[in-house]
Amino acid sequence: MNNIMKVVKLAICTGCRACSYEHITFEKNKHGFSSPLVDESCTNCGECLKQCIYFDEADN
Ligand code: SF4
Repeated sequence: MNNIMKVVKLAICTGCRACSYEHITFEKNKHGFSSPLVDESCTNCGECLKQCIYFDEADN
């Protein structure tokens, strides 16, 4: 997996939507905050991860 779900699993997503791409939708998580969901058309290109200011590839 090389997409924004890494950020979701690390529980560091703030729901800012900067990672919004056509194959990424946002739904409310169990805490009521917006959280990204990646659909099956994801190619794991990693472009969405580059948009997230909270994710540093070097640390993960
Ligand atoms: S860019 Fe990062 S913080 Fe913003 S919605 Fe996407 S995963 Fe969450």
